[in-house]
Formats: sequence, C-alpha cells, structure tokens
Amino acid sequence: MPEYRQDPLTGRIVIVAEERASRPHQFDIENSCVHDHSATYQQICPFCNGNEFMTPNEIAAFRVADSSADDSGWSVRVVPNKFPAVVQNVPDSALWSENYSWFSNYSLKFYHSENERFRKPVSGLGHHEVIIDTPRHILSISEMTDTEVTDMFRMYQERLKSLRKEECWKYIQIFKNVGAAAGASIPHSHSQLMAMPFVPQMILSIWEKALEYSYNKKKQKTNRNLSDCVWCNRIKSEILEQKRIVEETLNFVALCPFVSRFSGEIEIYPKSHESDFQDNVPISEFSLLVRRTIIRLEKAVLGIKKPFAYNLVLNTEPFDSSCPSLKNIFHWHLSILPSLARAAGFEWGTGLHINPISPETTAAKLV
Ligand SMILES: [Zn+2]
Ligand SMILES: [Zn+2]
Repeated sequence: MPEYRQDPLTGRIVIVAEERASRPHQFDIENSCVHDHSATYQQICPFCNGNEFMTPNEIAAFRVADSSADDSGWSVRVVPNKFPAVVQNVPDSALWSENYSWFSNYSLKFYHSENERFRKPVSGLGHHEVIIDTPRHILSISEMTDTEVTDMFRMYQERLKSLRKEECWKYIQIFKNVGAAAGASIPHSHSQLMAMPFVPQMILSIWEKALEYSYNKKKQKTNRNLSDCVWCNRIKSEILEQKRIVEETLNFVALCPFVSRFSGEIEIYPKSHESDFQDNVPISEFSLLVRRTIIRLEKAVLGIKKPFAYNLVLNTEPFDSSCPSLKNIFHWHLSILPSLARAAGFEWGTGLHINPISPETTAAKLV
C-alpha cells in the first residue's frame, strides 16, 4: 500500500510506493559513469595532473613542500569556476546588504510599490569555485584512497574556514555531482563551492523551524532525556529503532531518512551535536564512512555498472550573524542523493516526490 510521509522541518511530502519499482524501465536513466579513461583523454582533462595551465590560477591547494602554485605536486587543488553561476566583482556589490537581505526577508506588501522589487534583477554576487579532489583521473569517491577522501573533506573545512572570514557571505554550499546524470560536465572527480550573500529560503525555513523546536523543548522541559536539537532527537530514535540505519561508527551514523525523496538516499550525521563542519570533526573516521557508504550503494542496492551517478551535498550552519538566536541550532550533515530516476511532471508540478524503494528496504539491502 502506498504511503504519504511528511518531513517536519521542510514540510515536504513524499509518496513511498514500492509497487512502482516493478514498473518496466523504472531505472532506465543512464546511471553509470562510463567514459574514456585513456591516456589520450587525460591529455585534454583540465583537472588531471600536469594540466594545471588549463584552469584559472589556483586559490588554494594541498601541495608537497617544494612545489609551486599552478604546477604539479598537489593532492587537492581549488580554482575559480571557469564558467561561474555567480561572480564576485559586480558593479553594485557595495550595496550587497541592502540588495540581498531582501531575498531572505521579502514581503508581498511591496509587490506593487514604486520600486517593484520583484521585477528588478539584482547583480549575481557570489563566489563559485571548483575543488579538484585528486590529481588522478578517477570519477567517484569509491575509487579514492584513504588519504584522498580525507584530504578532500579537509579541503572542504579549509575553504569554509577561509570564506567565513569574508563578511559578505551568509551561506556556503559545497556539493559534488558525480556522472552526467547527476549534472557533472567534467568526469574527473571534483566538488564545487558556492558562497551566497543571503541564506536561501529553504535553508532559512529549516533553520527557523529547528529554532522553534529548540525554543519549545526548552520551555516544556517535560522529558529530560530529549535534547533541544531536532536532529539529535531524530538520530537517537533512529539508532534505537534500527530500521533505517546503514552503519554506525563511534562518532557518526549513516541512515536512510524516513522521508527519502529518492531511492538510495542516505544522510550521514555526527551523533553528538555539532552545527558546523569544522576542524574538530574526526575527519578520517567521517571520510572513510562516506566512502564505504558509496561503495555499499554501488554494490548492494543498485546492481548497475559502477561507478554510479549521484550528488553529495554538505549541509552546514549558515553564517548569518544578524540572527544570534539561530547560532548553534543547525546540526550539520551530509546528504548522498543517487540519480536513479528523473523528476517528471508530477514532481515538478507538486513538489512531491514518488519514491519506489522505501528507506527501510534500502537500509535492509545495504547492511
Ligand atoms: Zn582528469
Ligand atoms: Zn543536534
């Protein structure tokens, strides 16, 4: 029997309809990332070792001691996106606070006023960079060594730390598209970072809901075993119930969320409350768990040619210092979203997703 499930933080509703998994061509999208690994291809890959001249000048890198910037000798390299979605040097960037705070706090009462804010485009201020995860021409985290996957996440931390110092950024999204079906235009394993001058509406709404939860929990104080953090309590219940757990380590848990939009969707959380993806994260333990989880997905559930296409999204606390009560409310986590089926008319029209493999079934197949 199909079921509706609602996520309390986003309000998002998902239809879990396992009967649909037996439909013909359920997963007919090209999931695998088959492409040319040949030496000839690697000569034209801008992210391969030795081709540093093909990218804009590097912003940061982990390098061996005697190597120079924009030369070989690096293990992770960060460069500006050659085709950025947003740019740093915009004519009215001095007005950023006035222009961009509007996006997070808009009101329809101004809709017909003189300035017609809703019809006036605002310059696309932002920062868009590429983190080249490894000099080796590989596609997925599953092919990385222990050191490579740990270095990749260490660089995420470095970039967050560095950009946090620039006051104009309110939110930073680090993500990774693996395979053409997940939106990657270059197959060589890389991540992207976008810094925004405002907190996106969806993130702000989740953040405020979590604050509301925390406020009510503090006020009620009915159950002392419960934390003030909605995610901490959710993680505790999931570990007790064990129905959607993929793997638990000393400090982390990988689970299939109860309201999974996509088949094979997995979230990885620190078990104790941490709002930011910062230096104190046990980075090696986390990195290896992420890699094992991707390998589990490839081997156990999907039954398709590996490596498969997926998105990886790091959700960490926004930087908006104008809201002190929101500080330390967020609970950072990583989402893994396999690209197994395309969103179609119903999803675009309603915002609801139909998931043909329940998170319980997925978790059972993964462990
Ligand atoms: Zn390459
Ligand atoms: Zn928490």
